[in-house]
Amino acid sequence: MTKFIFVTGGVVSGIGKGISAASIGRLLKDRGLTVFMQKFDPYLNVDPGVMSPYQHGEVFVTVDGAETDLDLGHYERFIDEELTRAASVTTGKIYSHVIKKERRGDYDGATVQVIPHVTDAIKEAIYRAARDSQADVVITEIGGTVGDIEGLPFLEAIRQIHSENKAEDVIFVHTVLVPTIPGSDELKTKPTQHSFKQLMSYGIKTDIIITRSDGEVTEGLRRKISLFCDVPEEAVIQSKHVDLIYEVPLVFHEQDLDSLILKHLNLEDQPQSQGHWRAMVERFKEAKKPVDIGLVGKYVQLEDAYISVTQALLDAGYDTGYQVKVHYINAEEITPETVEDYLGAMDGIIIPGGFGERGFEGMVQASKFAREKDIPYFGICLGMQVSVVDVARHLAGLREANTTEIEAETPYPVIDLMEQQVGVDNLGGTMRLGNYPCQLEEDSLARRLYHQDEIQERHRHRYEVNNDYRAPLRKAGLFLSGLNEDLDLVEMVELPSHYFYLACQFHPEFSSRPNKTHPLFRGFVEAAGQKRK
Ligand code: GLN
Repeated sequence: MTKFIFVTGGVVSGIGKGISAASIGRLLKDRGLTVFMQKFDPYLNVDPGVMSPYQHGEVFVTVDGAETDLDLGHYERFIDEELTRAASVTTGKIYSHVIKKERRGDYDGATVQVIPHVTDAIKEAIYRAARDSQADVVITEIGGTVGDIEGLPFLEAIRQIHSENKAEDVIFVHTVLVPTIPGSDELKTKPTQHSFKQLMSYGIKTDIIITRSDGEVTEGLRRKISLFCDVPEEAVIQSKHVDLIYEVPLVFHEQDLDSLILKHLNLEDQPQSQGHWRAMVERFKEAKKPVDIGLVGKYVQLEDAYISVTQALLDAGYDTGYQVKVHYINAEEITPETVEDYLGAMDGIIIPGGFGERGFEGMVQASKFAREKDIPYFGICLGMQVSVVDVARHLAGLREANTTEIEAETPYPVIDLMEQQVGVDNLGGTMRLGNYPCQLEEDSLARRLYHQDEIQERHRHRYEVNNDYRAPLRKAGLFLSGLNEDLDLVEMVELPSHYFYLACQFHPEFSSRPNKTHPLFRGFVEAAGQKRK
């Protein structure tokens, strides 16, 4: 029998609702329960795959190849579980499904309406997640804030789930901002009261309120929220500011949030095993050795665009005793003249994934600089394609080498569209997505770091190393160290003559967890730390 926790947001967005939901997941896992998490995004896009990273931040990819909201990255990192397609639901997805059914005649001539047809489809997405995951608890976060017009069908669906199930099987958690008035330190609970009332008007009575604020939510304020929002005082939980996001579950635990949830769900007496998470947090806080990493990309104005890469770098650092400082550097500004200024002081250079022409030449300069100065380099996806272009141009003598994504007519298309991608017109959901195996060559840095000869990693791309150029690239010194033998694709490259120069076609950042940091990120950060002048 699965229990359901629904997390909604009030007052404003961007107050860490995803981290709160993920922290609840962590707490319940540490009480011995199995947990599945879902994010509902009320926008009309089918998924964020074709949305600009400036709009939406990073697109997180699941092992089964769904392109999803970045909150799924928080979920996976906190609960240490691989999520699936079922973890990401949007209005676009729900409507496409309902309209497809309508066209097939599945509704037997009925007038198709938001209630019950759309709400039924939403409920089915929740119940299906429960069935497929067999988890003790499914935690569903509703994106946006209460009161958004597009969120209404989701709120109605979770209201119905509450009334269809026993009260002890469903919990509503509401996260709110408790603001201060500019110029005074006084915290104001009125927006919380309004948000509570708005939820009530949809038939949802929240059980737990999680507050975010600048100052301390005092006993008095807690009592006030409790009184006006009809929740017990112990159900007003403060999400206070922490240095490390992984401290949030500990902060919640100190306020007995896990016991409160278990009591409500009638799951008392679950043992606690929080020690490992606390030990991890304490160890992470001890990491002090500084290391500066330059992240060269084109979406640097919005750091959320690289959130999993950043988190994987930070976590790998904490794990190996380093305090990583990530410097976000706009690739467009890097030229042969400026590269020294931008990157000269970096201990390591990373080029993450990306699309399109803007900034590409700056990235090639960054790879060349790392290579020539022997600064540890780590390329991911586009970052690997960049290094192949750099090596082709500057070491293999193929001066005009390029990727056909940027220059269709290049005489040396060292990176080219994968065969399976030729003739694909639809942009959404059509890349090479999700987990694929990769065989690691003997004597490679990759194999030394992974301690394995075959790995599985997540992909999201259309272009690949052009196999016609394997020989000249090898001759130029590039070690093709990871291959997908079934599909005959190059997945990893290295320069063995260098201290640390490694790049991969897949996205290792998606599988890095704080309690299982990724070997490639660890290797890179350690190399950068050791090279630090
Ligand atoms: N634009 C490149 C491709 O499609 C790289 C994609 C990426 O970095 N995720 O192959």
